[in-house]
Amino acid sequence: MSISKNLNSIRKTLPEDVQLVAVSKTKPNEAILEAYSTGQRIFGENKIQEMTQKWEHLPKDIEWHMIGHVQRNKVKYMAEYVDLIHGVDSLRLLKEIDKQAKKHNRTISCLLQIHIAEEETKFGLDEKELFELVVSDDFQKLQNIEIRGLMGMATFTSNQEQVRKEFKKLKKFFDSIASQLPKTEILSMGMSGDYKIAIEEGSTMVRIGSSIFGSRNYT
Ligand SMILES: *Cc1c(COP(=O)(O)O)cnc(C)c1O
Repeated sequence: MSISKNLNSIRKTLPEDVQLVAVSKTKPNEAILEAYSTGQRIFGENKIQEMTQKWEHLPKDIEWHMIGHVQRNKVKYMAEYVDLIHGVDSLRLLKEIDKQAKKHNRTISCLLQIHIAEEETKFGLDEKELFELVVSDDFQKLQNIEIRGLMGMATFTSNQEQVRKEFKKLKKFFDSIASQLPKTEILSMGMSGDYKIAIEEGSTMVRIGSSIFGSRNYT
């Protein structure tokens, strides 16, 4: 199967109001250009350096989403161009994004990452931390960031009921935080293995890699 065929068959299964982030991490520019030629404009990466190199070489109307864990000292490399940062899980990181955005005279859109999975290794805020963060004075002061919604990753398991339960939980946070955060309209949940369940549970943005580009080889 080719990238464009994969993309077209995935698009057929997506409701119109669900956005597709094509997760191109570890994949070469040629693969991204093939997806681009079918009209895909949103691409997701999980390493800032890799994303920046791709941004430098690829068409400028691509929207770059940072979907991985963000190291504060690297925010400066993407501050000029990044469209959406999915994995924001601390005030310290938000402050750095705000500072770098200010330097470029822009506002950077962010999603707050929520911990919904059972695995300890997945990053994110819990419910208490989320609500404490959004009411804090320090948070209210930030002027060059905009929280556009929430992001989460379900447990890596074949137990579909567990995955569904975790997505439901995230949707509940999303609905309850809407009154605190006026610009909250993006719920980023769902990957190759679980995006259909995520959409049933209210996802508005899915992040799909291997089902588009094939499996990844990590070195
Ligand atoms: C890699 C990655 C994806 C895409 O995973 P696939 O299973 O290849 O679709 C989605 N979200 C995040 C945060 C990722 O790191």
